[in-house]
Amino acid sequence: MIWNPAKESMSREDLRELQGRRLHKIVTYVYHNVPFYRNKMQAMDVSPDDIRTIDDIVKLPFTTKQDLRDNYPFGLQAAPQSEIIRIHASTGTTGHPTIVGYTRKDIGVWSECMSRCLSSFGVRKDDVFSVAYGYGLFTGGLGVHYGVENLGAAVVPTSTGNTQKHVRLLKDLGITGIACTPSFALHLAETMEQEGITPDELKLRIGAFGAEPWTENMRSEIESRLGIKAYNIYGLSEIMGPCVSYECEAQHGSHINEDHFYPEIIDPTTLEPLGPGKTGELVFTTLTKEGMPLLRYRTRDLTSIMEGECSCGRNFVRMAPICGRSDDMLIIRGINVFPSQVESVILSIPECAPHFRLIVDRVDNLDRLTVQVEVRPEYFDQGFDTLAPITELERKVASKLKSVLSISAKVNVKAPNTIERVEGKTKFVIDNRILK
Ligand code: ADP
Ligand code: ZN
Repeated sequence: MIWNPAKESMSREDLRELQGRRLHKIVTYVYHNVPFYRNKMQAMDVSPDDIRTIDDIVKLPFTTKQDLRDNYPFGLQAAPQSEIIRIHASTGTTGHPTIVGYTRKDIGVWSECMSRCLSSFGVRKDDVFSVAYGYGLFTGGLGVHYGVENLGAAVVPTSTGNTQKHVRLLKDLGITGIACTPSFALHLAETMEQEGITPDELKLRIGAFGAEPWTENMRSEIESRLGIKAYNIYGLSEIMGPCVSYECEAQHGSHINEDHFYPEIIDPTTLEPLGPGKTGELVFTTLTKEGMPLLRYRTRDLTSIMEGECSCGRNFVRMAPICGRSDDMLIIRGINVFPSQVESVILSIPECAPHFRLIVDRVDNLDRLTVQVEVRPEYFDQGFDTLAPITELERKVASKLKSVLSISAKVNVKAPNTIERVEGKTKFVIDNRILK
């Protein structure tokens, strides 16, 4: 079912006209309320009056994650603090997390866009829907939660954690829909199998999966092991949270909520716009956001805009599945991790040499991070051939990593010169998670 046909099935011509009007309005708003954007636009000799149609967007400056860090915490906020009713933070950036403030209207737009996604997945008022994304600063939990309530289905705020309890709730409450990461869905399937529960004992029929990349093979595995239809949902906290794009019954590309988030694909090196079908970096401009509107935000996610119309009746463009990142960010258990964060922790510990590597595995469908680091020769000579100091150092590194990354890592302290160097440098990341 199409939640809001007036928008989702709007003609391309009317949509472009609406996008143009909204763009002019948002540019005027940030120009007057965010010194960062005013300065950038003045430096480029662009004024809000130069932005009349959506095609004028190419005249505007880009925004990067670094800009958000430089303006931490509230520098890019456009609305006065009295209008902000919710604050989220995106995980795992180097140095500062990214802070996003939402006004009441923003929360309303988010809920509306989430309801469009859920409705597209087939969720109805009489469904019982479990939200198994983390609740907290992460946008996953509360974002989906508000969308389910707005749609009128019953939300079960399961959050992450106890998988066995979750399986029991699925059965006892007759849960019909679930939102979580695709890897957690597989873990859930495994737990069910261990408990001897088969899909036909459950009422589960719909899954909304996102927050990390997944593949068609994972989709078929989840669908058959849980006995459901599995749909993709995409989003990022800087732009809103989950709800930016969503699959329909065609399960072929994700429709972008284009009346609120205007997409462009650019070449990440030349920054030139790329046409439909070409893979490049996805860029979003928020067309209606009040709390922290962003112009041409570079997501670093690589994808393409798909050509042609969709059979579902929606006219919003579709994006292909994310096929990579233009930076080195890893997503581990749904948390963003940059190798540079691990490096900063290691450099801050005197016993550690600056030679380390990250190994990411998937065990029982859950991600596991191992950090191998070499001890400095001078400390090694001082008795590191006995186990006790190594264990102590491993504990120290692990606890620092945990506080910086927000996820646990297994730490392996190694003797000097034992980590393989590639052309003089350590190969930082070994990602053994094969996304088949
Ligand atoms: P959120 O809090 O919504 O997860 P983050 O900013 O922490 O937002 O992470 C957003 C990133 O997660 C995206 O830029 C993208 O790399 C990844 N992501 C989110 N949803 C998907 C998806 N469906 N498929 C692939 N990657 C995704
Ligand atoms: Zn469609």
